[in-house]
Amino acid sequence: MEENSELLYSDQRSNLKKERGIPVNEMDSKAVLSMVSKQQQYVRSGHTKSIEFRLEQLKRLKTVIQQNESLIADALYKDLRKSPFEAYATEIGYVYDSISYCIKHLKQWAKPKRVATPIIHFGSKSYIYPEPYGSVLIIGPFNYPFMLVMDPLIGAISAGNSAIVKPSEYTPHVSAAISKLLRDNFDESYIAVVEGGKEATSALIHAPVDLIFFTGSTKVGKIVMQAAAENLVPVVLELGGKSPCIVDRTVDLDLAAQRIVWGKFLNNGQTCVAPDYLLVHKEIKPALIAKMKEQLMAFYGEDPKLSEDYGRIVNEQQWDRLRGLVNESKVVVGGEGDREDMYFAPTIMNNVAWTDKVMEEEIFGPILPVLEYSDLDEAIESINLRPKPLALYLFTKNKVTETKVMEQVSFGGGCINDTVLHLVSPYLPFGGVGASGMGAYHGRHSFETFSHLKSVLKKSTKINLSLIYPPSSSKKLKLIKKFLK
Ligand code: NAD
Repeated sequence: MEENSELLYSDQRSNLKKERGIPVNEMDSKAVLSMVSKQQQYVRSGHTKSIEFRLEQLKRLKTVIQQNESLIADALYKDLRKSPFEAYATEIGYVYDSISYCIKHLKQWAKPKRVATPIIHFGSKSYIYPEPYGSVLIIGPFNYPFMLVMDPLIGAISAGNSAIVKPSEYTPHVSAAISKLLRDNFDESYIAVVEGGKEATSALIHAPVDLIFFTGSTKVGKIVMQAAAENLVPVVLELGGKSPCIVDRTVDLDLAAQRIVWGKFLNNGQTCVAPDYLLVHKEIKPALIAKMKEQLMAFYGEDPKLSEDYGRIVNEQQWDRLRGLVNESKVVVGGEGDREDMYFAPTIMNNVAWTDKVMEEEIFGPILPVLEYSDLDEAIESINLRPKPLALYLFTKNKVTETKVMEQVSFGGGCINDTVLHLVSPYLPFGGVGASGMGAYHGRHSFETFSHLKSVLKKSTKINLSLIYPPSSSKKLKLIKKFLK
């Protein structure tokens, strides 16, 4: 009975969408609706409410990944030429650590929490009950194609949801590996995988799931949010944007160069939180560029194409887009590439202006434009005139500069005197703001993002304050004014 009404509900919603002219692929959407309905029913059955069940599933996920570690590492190499070290450090090992952290803390997070109660509710108690949303949809991007679907999945499992996972179609080997390891080990009514591109994703985002967790571009994020709005499905959007890196004149140049070059050229610059561009104090700009050249040599050698630690661009379309951003006359390092091999040399461009093509959109590749500033207020102003970035990095030893930037610029998250690594802490909520996204996850924040926090006030049946009940009186008004002021 319950299942039928759920299906009817889903069908009515689907009809609604047709009436409003939203294109729905009939076959796909029917299959998706049935999958969502089965998953919602599974969560309603209560299986996933048990903390023991969730812990068991997290352990199983870890074991399954361990058993398939070489398949995953191999797929990451084939799709993005990730070295075994990078594949482990930034994807597989990161996921193990995330699972271990959740296993360690889950019991504590999942407990209903007693919180304070205002005096006006004298004799009552207040509780917060975290509960699963139901069936959550996780859509992943191509750049960390394993980690960026597994990490949200860990949050979804921890919070007691079922999940539909849609890996990126641009990394087909990783997508197939994820599909194999999840399909072979989890029932579809609990964890399902849908592989495919726009069409498959379109059917999924128009379905009445209970939460959509999307990681990808701002452009597609808008499409996802619009589709979700039709069913009033809440969304978490982990998007991108142009993340600035400010370098003032007080820095240790060697250290700054090492940390910037690492964060920028990791995974060929295809990192959502990579420093997109540098804003360098003009006094130290030539010295910093010289140090970054040295650092590139130290990391990747004379010919980065031969380095095991230097990855590849995901596909021709991205390679061509990046090529179009290079202005030869401003290149001071790199600039060359090999389209056949998807190789794009680590490239630094100097004397870049805000009006240059490379500053129009998120670069998402191994091109580092260097802009200069002489007045910090102007540098801050130019950042604040643009969409709020996902990350911001500040290299400085000056406390006043640090306070000023932290107080005056809004951004998702970032580092002082480093790049990218804020992402690795389970204690820091990770997410964007404004055009770089909404919602956050990692560690406890993942659990909370995938949970509805249900608020309950438990009233005493022995004490009954009649103050709020009619008929009102001037005496009652006087009294309530004492409480509500
Ligand atoms: P993308 O937006 O092109 O694709 C992401 C997902 O959306 C893919 O699974 C794809 O199949 C799907 N998709 C693409 N077009 C669609 C459409 N029209 N309708 C429905 N679904 C569609 O992103 P990408 O190129 O894979 O990844 C790069 C972007 O992701 C960058 O902007 C980067 O900054 C961002 N990103 C953000 C984070 C973060 O945590 N904030 C992490 C990684 C990447």
